[in-house]
Amino acid sequence: MKLLLHICCAPCSTAAVEAWRQEGVRVTGTFFNPNIHPFAEHSLRWQTLLSCAGAMGLPLMGGPEYDITGWLRRLKGGGQRPERCRICISQRLGHTARLAAGSGFGAFSTTLLVSPYQEHEIIREEGEKAAEAAGVRFAYRDLRARYRRSIELSREAGLYRQKYCGCIYSDAEAAAGRRQRAGERAFPPGSSDAAEAAAGRRPKRQA
Ligand code: SF4
Repeated sequence: MKLLLHICCAPCSTAAVEAWRQEGVRVTGTFFNPNIHPFAEHSLRWQTLLSCAGAMGLPLMGGPEYDITGWLRRLKGGGQRPERCRICISQRLGHTARLAAGSGFGAFSTTLLVSPYQEHEIIREEGEKAAEAAGVRFAYRDLRARYRRSIELSREAGLYRQKYCGCIYSDAEAAAGRRQRAGERAFPPGSSDAAEAAAGRRPKRQA
């Protein structure tokens, strides 16, 4: 089978390509992620994929299109997970499905299926909808058990690994999570310092 694989990032591609190849599938990758913000991050993920694909002997199709204003327009001003992710995933898989159908691939899939942090059921549903609309098969696999393998392979290859999913909202959410964890390390929950901090007073040891 010839498969067009939507690639969200190089690290997830390592374990996904390995899994498909183990099934004897001929894989071509495509990078279509207008959700990634800012442009410098988009370029960095694309450049990382270029070097990773070269090392894996993975052919790539299509260029790194970047239409952040179109992506934001689709979201109609923001939104929370999981609705926001459904719109985002639908656009990326719809594009991949049309490219696969127009280029003679028997099926398409996505490296998003590797990540345990993604909305897995939404990926499956939107993949199937995109497949039906384009007239090509969505090749589904639950690859989340391979996430650790993707980290291993990425470390071995020295690949850049991002700290947030991609969009401006996920960047802000990840930063808020980091701030919260740092706060909990500094003032463990239940400690008197945490109570002082929660009440807006400066903890004694900081005085
Ligand atoms: S969190 Fe990830 S999947 Fe969800 S909207 Fe943002 S970039 Fe897209």
